[in-house]
Amino acid sequence: MKNSNRRVFMCQVVTASSAVLATQAMAQAKVDPKDAQAISLGYVHDTTKVDAKKYPKHAAAQKCANCQLYAGKPTDAWAGCPLFGAKQVAANGWCSAYAKKG
Ligand code: SF4
Repeated sequence: MKNSNRRVFMCQVVTASSAVLATQAMAQAKVDPKDAQAISLGYVHDTTKVDAKKYPKHAAAQKCANCQLYAGKPTDAWAGCPLFGAKQVAANGWCSAYAKKG
C-alpha cells in the first residue's frame, strides 16, 4: 500500500469509527431527569421516588418496563420511549404519561 493510499485508508477508518461511536453515544444517551421535558412529565429513573402528592394516581407497580410506550423488552434495563426522542428511560423509571401495557 502506497503512503498516500494508506493515509486515505486511515482517514476512512477514523471517519467510520467516529460515526459508529457517535451512533452508539446517541443510542445510549439517557434521559436526564432535569431536562425540561422530563420535569414537565414528572419523569424519574426510580418509580419509588415519585412525588405522591404531585402524582396521587401513581402506583408502586407502575414503571417504564410495563408501560405501553417502553420500546424495549420488559427485561431491558434501559430502552427508548417516544416521549423522549432518541434518549433512553430506565426500566424502573416512571412518568405521568404512564399507560399500562395491555
Ligand atoms: Fe416510562 Fe411510559 Fe413515561 Fe415513557 S411514557 S417515560 S415508558 S412511564
